[in-house]
Amino acid sequence: QAKSRGRNTYQFYTAALTRLANLRLSMEARLRRAIERNELLLHYQPQVDLATGTPVGVEALVRWQSSEGRIVPPGEFIPIAEDSGLIVPLGYWVLREACTQGRSWLDAGRPPMRLAVNLSALQWQHKDLLKRIQAILDETGFPAEQLEFEITETTLMEGGGPETGVLVALRDLGVRVAIDDFGTGYSSLAALKRFPVDVLKIDRAFVDGLPDDPDDQEITSAIIAMARSLHLEPVAEGVETRAQRDFLLERGCRTGQGFLFARPLPVGECVQWLARALAGEEPVS
Ligand code: C2E
Ligand code: MG
Ligand code: MG
Ligand code: MG
Repeated sequence: QAKSRGRNTYQFYTAALTRLANLRLSMEARLRRAIERNELLLHYQPQVDLATGTPVGVEALVRWQSSEGRIVPPGEFIPIAEDSGLIVPLGYWVLREACTQGRSWLDAGRPPMRLAVNLSALQWQHKDLLKRIQAILDETGFPAEQLEFEITETTLMEGGGPETGVLVALRDLGVRVAIDDFGTGYSSLAALKRFPVDVLKIDRAFVDGLPDDPDDQEITSAIIAMARSLHLEPVAEGVETRAQRDFLLERGCRTGQGFLFARPLPVGECVQWLARALAGEEPVS
């Protein structure tokens, strides 16, 4: 009897795993179609000077508007895009779209601001990365100095040696580099010193517990102090409350993004938000 139960369990798991594999496959096929059919879009989240609320930039965040009209968040499809390699074409689509948008903002007379774009691990290893970035900058006419790439700490650390060369080359193109989700990986201070980057983005998991959680206090304070001693700019993610903002400011972090200021917004709403904020009409104090 025990034996037959064992077999049933086995069959149950096999069926479940098969279903899971099929789901992933159909998701992958749908995502491939979505890229072809232009069903992807970008939302933009403002980054602000925490002290004044003045916008200093925006982060482009990809969304998938499925044919049923639902907006699928990146957490549901970026992992599949990574596993299937689709992230490479998807990533170049994101970069071209963001730079095109950024260029049109400049052409409309808006003040220059930094435009942050996320780069995934697979893109990071793509041999044509630099050539493709240069080509997109040339094609769109977006100024390199205003572009910032966000690369997660884990991607950078697992990338190892030669990628430091890519970082140097990126800097030579004139773009800035931020380490995303900082604090979740295992960078040593030595490694950090070796990487020519500009910004450390404090993972929102640590901002979350501010201002009361002693661990989060200590971790965010340490990251801010480390960033400053290495002459990197600390940027806080996931700032949701005034108390969090005040804590960050007091510890010396001047830049951040989060729902306290604005959610990631469709392009039209973001333009309106930026215009109001630049006119001083989006006060958060
Ligand atoms: P990320 O780059 O760390 O982006 C920040 C995420 O935090 C965004 O989630 C944003 O909506 C969310 N967020 C911002 N402020 C707050 C806040 O105050 N509270 C909370 N709870 N969340 C906040 P989103 O848009 O769902 O993106 C999730 C992740 O997907 C991103 O994390 C990034 O790793 C990845 N991703 C998004 N767009 C792209 C892309 O174009 N390329 C690549 N490779 N990855 C992307
Ligand atoms: Mg990011
Ligand atoms: Mg992040
Ligand atoms: Mg926490």
